[in-house]
Amino acid sequence: MFESLFQSFTETADPSQGGARLGLLREELRKRGLQGFIVPRADEQQNEYVPPGAERLAWLTGFTGSAGLAIVLGDRAGVFIDGRYTIQVREQVDVRVFTPVAIAQTSPEAWIEAHASKAERIGYDPALHTPGQVRRLKEAATNAGAVLVGVEDNPLDAVWADRPQAPLAPVRLHPKRFAGENAARKLKRIGEALTRVDGLVVSDPHAVAWAFNIRGQDVAHTPLPLAFALIAKGRRPVLYVEPRKLDAAVRAALESLADIAEPAQLARDLATMGEEGLRLRFDASTASAKLVHALEGAGGTADLGVDPIALMKARKNSAELKGARAAHLRDGVAMTRFLAWFAQASKGGKLTEIAAAQALETFRRETGKLKDVSFPSISGAGPNSALPHYRVSEASNRTIAKGMFLIDSGAQYEDGTTDITRTLAVGRPSAEMRDRFTRVLKGHIAIARAIFPKGTSGAQIDALARVPLWQAGLDFDHGTGHGVGSYLSVHEGPQRISKMGMTALEPGMILSNEPGYYKAGAWGIRIENLIVVQKAYVNGAERDMLDFETLTLAPIDLALVDVKLLSVEEKSWLNAYHARARKELSPLLDAPTKRWLKEATVKI
Ligand code: ZN
Ligand code: ZN
Repeated sequence: MFESLFQSFTETADPSQGGARLGLLREELRKRGLQGFIVPRADEQQNEYVPPGAERLAWLTGFTGSAGLAIVLGDRAGVFIDGRYTIQVREQVDVRVFTPVAIAQTSPEAWIEAHASKAERIGYDPALHTPGQVRRLKEAATNAGAVLVGVEDNPLDAVWADRPQAPLAPVRLHPKRFAGENAARKLKRIGEALTRVDGLVVSDPHAVAWAFNIRGQDVAHTPLPLAFALIAKGRRPVLYVEPRKLDAAVRAALESLADIAEPAQLARDLATMGEEGLRLRFDASTASAKLVHALEGAGGTADLGVDPIALMKARKNSAELKGARAAHLRDGVAMTRFLAWFAQASKGGKLTEIAAAQALETFRRETGKLKDVSFPSISGAGPNSALPHYRVSEASNRTIAKGMFLIDSGAQYEDGTTDITRTLAVGRPSAEMRDRFTRVLKGHIAIARAIFPKGTSGAQIDALARVPLWQAGLDFDHGTGHGVGSYLSVHEGPQRISKMGMTALEPGMILSNEPGYYKAGAWGIRIENLIVVQKAYVNGAERDMLDFETLTLAPIDLALVDVKLLSVEEKSWLNAYHARARKELSPLLDAPTKRWLKEATVKI
């Protein structure tokens, strides 16, 4: 899957309810002296996957995309969506009451400036916005002569009668054999990394999970316990987690590291620290304006910046890398069984996108170790494969006909998170398909083989994946690679390979390598493996050099490769990759799959 491209599904969406629910909300706003309200698709920690009770945007409008925002004003309401959701939003919302607005053309701020009336009071929930978002919205409201008003409790929640309760999935300890470092040592390292501040507010639940070696199940696809932490100099750390999620053993283990408190206590503790005049670091991308205001309102200083845990978490240690290799070998077995099955099952011309995705999940389940899929599979045939953000539904489900089929999927195992895309020929591919596939493959190989000096950022190598496409006047419109967590999010920062990837790549960082090419309305190609940054040994090197180890093990469809387009080095990379996949996977496969793999990985 790509960076920032993910989908979420909610049962609460119901387009036919839009008008009635908007009416309820407006009535509630009137009672509170407000004329407008802002409803982001966000929870209190800016999560990618949010719990059902935080799907306010979906409840109100019917729109279930993974990103978006509604702005309700006295006389109109806009639903802001990005390019992925242009069609979906029109299918899901009642356009008589909600106006879809393309965020690339009109920002929420520009829309407020154009449509808010003088003296209009527009409410927002400070728990659901970062301070940066609030600042921009406030400016826009001021420019329109309106007022942006922070609310104490959310008026939408007041009218959402059957709003789901906050999740209470049990918290589990993530064992040292997978984490590689105990939590006490991590907390000490975090404390030492805090310079020029008195403490750190850990608002990213992924960072909390990493620091305390805990995992949970509060949201889909990422094994997160929703929790916060406060790590301050000269004090015991505090873990803010709903106590009902902790059994006696987990509580005892965590109490040996930190004080345990209810999440609601965090804002009160920040206020107390504010009174003491303390300066605390907040993660600008996940901390809510509410938390920042709690400290600042009491006289403290908020230092908005990056959470130092992000970089610590990104550099996987040897136990995490060992786990990642084991997870990828296991996942490679499931994937290879799927590919062998697909080669047969797709022949009849009756296989559907949903059936293929379900078969792959079954193979993963049969490993006996699957905790969850790491995101909803992208399973696209023909024109659907040309939609990089496609998510199959009953309505969109296509039969996999002659041409190409793309499947992007991943797994959560306790020892590692996987993410792999394969594009497969069904029947005889056209010369154009083979040309484009081979160019994507050349870009993939260029990243896989890259050697670069220490200090190089992802942005500096992103072009390597594109040059073979550029040479034919082609490109793709997503990043080449995103960071991946260790039994955590399949989208992890700050490491990434993209035009925006400013973080230097460091040994132990796991990333995806996923160039693609999409021919709108016809077909799409993506080849994705996960890779890990490692030290490179170069004869006579004058600098410290780095390169990648490829973690993912599964054959790449040779029927789509135009061998003439590959250099000697590219051919030998592909042959070596296939030989390695065959050697490592074969002992774990049944005889028919083993035979299939041998043919699928034949030397070219
Ligand atoms: Zn993927
Ligand atoms: Zn990916």
